[in-house]
Amino acid sequence: MAGNIHNPTTDAIRMVTECGLRPSPQRIAVAEYVLSHLCHPTADEIYSGLKNRYPSLSRTTVYNTLHSFAAHGAVLEVNVEPGITRFDGCTKPHAHFRCSKCGRIFDIDMTDMNFPDEFKISTIQVNLTGECPECDNSKRLH
Ligand SMILES: [Zn+2]
Ligand SMILES: [Zn+2]
Repeated sequence: MAGNIHNPTTDAIRMVTECGLRPSPQRIAVAEYVLSHLCHPTADEIYSGLKNRYPSLSRTTVYNTLHSFAAHGAVLEVNVEPGITRFDGCTKPHAHFRCSKCGRIFDIDMTDMNFPDEFKISTIQVNLTGECPECDNSKRLH
């Protein structure tokens, strides 16, 4: 995708300001984290990943910043497992596949899908569950 040529810090600052927030180092760090960790982290995982580098960062700042991002469509909230909200820096339409064996979450491309033109779609949440190729293979080998 285009995006590799972007400077991650510039992208992160733009994301914070476009969501109407003051670009504090902590908020920029949260933005940078979600843009560079497309593995659908939870707010707690993002907080744990940043707290050593930003000792003044509070859990509340992480939660509030993520919710502002989500409200402005800068990140997607992913609810594949009941009661767990994950955050996705990839905002193009895609489905999520959760492997019931290893628990990993995969992005499934949906660009080839045909949506009816008469519906103006603002959010897409498609959650699939099953076995990922790796877990399915290991079953066949044994
Ligand atoms: Zn798996
Ligand atoms: Zn995703």
